[in-house]
Amino acid sequence: MESIFEYMGKYDYENLLLCQDKALDFKAIIAIHDTTLGPATGGCRMWQYESEMDAIEDCLRLARGMTYKYAAAGVNLGGGKAVIIGDPRRKDREPVFRALGKFINRLGGKYITGEDVGTTLKDMEYIRMETEHVVTLPTYLGGAGDIAPMTAFGTIRSMQACCNRVYGSTSLEGKRVAIQGLGAVGHNVVSQLHELGAILVVTDIDPDKVDAMIDKYGVEAVDPEAIYDVGCDIFCPCALGAVINDNTLNRLRCKIICGSANNQLKEERHGDLLEEKGFVYAPDYITNAGGTIYDTDRLGVGGVSHERGREKVSRIYDNMVRVFEIADRDKTPTYLAADQMAEERITQIAKVKKYVDDLKP
Ligand code: NAD
Repeated sequence: MESIFEYMGKYDYENLLLCQDKALDFKAIIAIHDTTLGPATGGCRMWQYESEMDAIEDCLRLARGMTYKYAAAGVNLGGGKAVIIGDPRRKDREPVFRALGKFINRLGGKYITGEDVGTTLKDMEYIRMETEHVVTLPTYLGGAGDIAPMTAFGTIRSMQACCNRVYGSTSLEGKRVAIQGLGAVGHNVVSQLHELGAILVVTDIDPDKVDAMIDKYGVEAVDPEAIYDVGCDIFCPCALGAVINDNTLNRLRCKIICGSANNQLKEERHGDLLEEKGFVYAPDYITNAGGTIYDTDRLGVGGVSHERGREKVSRIYDNMVRVFEIADRDKTPTYLAADQMAEERITQIAKVKKYVDDLKP
C-alpha cells in the first residue's frame, strides 16, 4: 500500500484510527469501512506485523471483509476491525485490552469489537470492563459463548444448497465429504454430518484429533496432503486459507467445495478457474457466517435466544441460493456473485435509510 488515503478512497472507507500508549507499549489500529447497515463490527486481531503499514493494510482489508460478510448474511451491521500490534503470546493482557476498550468506548458504539486471531474470550472480558461495545463474550457475561457449532451448522446449510444445485436434492445422506481440519469448527461439522448420514473422510495435522473422530464416528482418515486427492462429492476445508491454488486445483476430485476456512482462494483468479472447471464453489464468507450471525444476533434485540439465532443461521441456505441466482443472472463466478449480493443490499438499504423519521425542518 503506497498511500493510505488512496487505498481508503479506492474502497470507500470511513475512518482509520491509530491508538497508542507509550508507557503500556500499546499500539492499536481501528478501521471502520462502512456503517450504512449499522455500527462497524468485527473482531480484534493481535499480531506482530513486519511493518506498521502491513498492520494498517491488514486492518483495513479485514474491516472491508466484514462489511461484505454482514451485508450478504442479512445482518444489520457494518464492517470494522481492530488490530493490536504485538506478540499474541504477550502476558500483560489486562492493561492492553482495557486500553483498547477505552479507545473503543470513545467511539460511542460506532465500532463493536470481538474475538479474532491472537485474542481470546478472556481478553474480551478485559475490554468489557471499559466498554459495552464488545460482542464476543462468554455466556456468564451475556454473550453467546462458543460459536463454532453454529459456524458448523451454517456450513452444512450452505452444503445443502450446493447439493440441491448439483443433485437436485438437499439430502446429505450417502454423500461422501472430505473434511480438512478437525478443530473447533471441523469436529462439529463431522458430528453434524454424521447425524445426517454422510460418508466422511477426514484429516488433521494433529493425530489425536483424527483418532478421536475415528473412535467416535468410525470415519475414514487420510494424511493431510492426501485430502486433496480424495474422490468425493464435497471437499470441506475447515483449516487453512489459500487451499484452492494452482497445485490443488488439478487434484481435487469433488463436485462441490464448501467449508468454513477463511480466504480459501489463494488468488481471485482461482475462483474463475473453479468456475471454468465446473466446480460448485460456496464462497467462504457466505458459508462461514453462522458463528458471527449467532454471536451478533443479541445486539439490538436484547439477550441471547438460541432458537432465534439458529433460525437466522439456517438462512445461510437462502443466501447461497441467492448467490447462485446472481451467478446465473450475471454469468459470473460465485465468489463475485457473493460480492454483488452484498453490494446490492447495501445500496438498497441506503435508499431506505434516506427516509428520515423526523420531518421537522
Ligand atoms: P481451529 O484452530 O480450532 O482448527 C483448525 C484445525 O486445522 C486444527 O485442528 C489444526 O490442527 C488443523 N490444521 C492446520 N493445518 C492443517 C493442515 N495442513 N491439514 C489439516 N489440518 C490442519 O480453527 P477453527 O476455529 O476450527 O476454524 C477453522 C477455519 O474456519 C479457519 O480458517 C477459521 O478462520 C474459519 N472460521 C472459523 C470460525 C469459528 O467459528 N471458529 C468462524 C468463521 C471462520
